[in-house]
Amino acid sequence: MCYRNSFLGLLLFNLLFINPSSAADNDPVGHYSKRATALLRDAISRETVRGAGNVPAYAATLQDTFLAAGFPSDALTLVPYNDTASLIVRYAGDGSSGRKPILFSAHMDVVPADPNDWLRHPFELQEDDTFFYGRGVLDNKFDVSILTTLFVWLKESGFVPNRDLVIAFTGDEESLQETVQQLTRDYRDLIDAEYALVVDGGGGVLNDAGEAIQFRVGFAEKTYATFAMTAKNAGGHSSRPRADNAIYDLARAIQRLEAHQFPIETNEITLTYFARTAPLLDGEVGEAMARLVSDPSDERAIATLRAEPEYVGTLGTTCIPTMLSGGHAENALPRAVTATVNCRIFPGHTPNEILRELQLVADNSNLQWDVVGVPVSSPASAFNNELLAAVAVALEPIHPGLPIVPQMGSGTTDGAYFRAAGIPSYSLSGIFINPKDSFAHGLNERVPRAAVSESLRFWRGVINELAGDTSITGS
Ligand SMILES: [Zn+2]
Repeated sequence: MCYRNSFLGLLLFNLLFINPSSAADNDPVGHYSKRATALLRDAISRETVRGAGNVPAYAATLQDTFLAAGFPSDALTLVPYNDTASLIVRYAGDGSSGRKPILFSAHMDVVPADPNDWLRHPFELQEDDTFFYGRGVLDNKFDVSILTTLFVWLKESGFVPNRDLVIAFTGDEESLQETVQQLTRDYRDLIDAEYALVVDGGGGVLNDAGEAIQFRVGFAEKTYATFAMTAKNAGGHSSRPRADNAIYDLARAIQRLEAHQFPIETNEITLTYFARTAPLLDGEVGEAMARLVSDPSDERAIATLRAEPEYVGTLGTTCIPTMLSGGHAENALPRAVTATVNCRIFPGHTPNEILRELQLVADNSNLQWDVVGVPVSSPASAFNNELLAAVAVALEPIHPGLPIVPQMGSGTTDGAYFRAAGIPSYSLSGIFINPKDSFAHGLNERVPRAAVSESLRFWRGVINELAGDTSITGS
């Protein structure tokens, strides 16, 4: 299918690219911030939710944007997948570093939003003095627009990286996550890289006073796995009760799960996370983190941190019942009762290992266990000092001396599939936001307007460090 000649695409790049070059020379960050905002405005107007079929046209418009900036057509690959698509962009380097490419990834789809629930229309970019609003304005069309504009800026300024830089924009991260699997399976030669930077999540944290307090880089994700635990019984009439009962059996198993704690686990990522977060927190929690770092078996520190929902997941595997179903009539003994148990598995363990542990804990060989869906095991990515050093250099002119904190996410993003395919993957973004203002997936999603220019400066700095000609300062 030829997406390149779409009318909307032509219209958009006529609007975007008829610019006197002097503006780009005098104030490149201001100039490219305007272009990134125009791309974001177009992106938000497209309702790229699952099943709407709007991702391919969005991808085609982005493709046109790269073409207009001088990328050759053979550097661009639009990959259709059912009613969605991915876009791969290769920025050819001169190969002088002798290193494999760096992959940059973000996703073009969004989760649904009902205009009746929102204060502003979710599929129109709206703004006030501080924020842009719209579905996807944070997750993840902001970063799609930034990465696109960044590549355009680099290309138009004549930058030649010392290794290839590759973009992969995927098309269903928020639902099936099949486009990333198509890329790692069928397009490996086009997206293969020394490592991937998933530009979705991570990034700068602002406190309530609007000051930057830390910058997070995701090094690992826990494996998401769900199990259905079912107690079965011959059933019967409720007027003739017996001692054996599926509800009692399941209730006993659930109580055993409640009493069970998976072992405390740490790795280089979580210990560094605690070490660098401890000084930023006052009181008991900060102290507990510091004690855990010096002695990972400190019982009191473990108890304090386990009591905090924000940190319990960083200490090991967790499994928790989330749904119950069962029985078929109020006057019948139940024949089947099921509890759904959702687990977030610490890197280094397979879902099967955790299932066996749950079976031992439940201690009833008559229970039936089923795996719900297909869990993806994602190993932690190796510590990447080169990346952390580049982030530190890029942040210095924006937020000098900011602590950089490695993080382990508890969900599954496209990065898990890159890791599973053997491409180490790190998540970070140039956005600085107060976690209280982050409404990704929720109502009235927003991003600080200041994030546009900050992100462009940040990424320009990172690329200069990782792939660059350090004579170009970028701002
Ligand atoms: Zn996302």
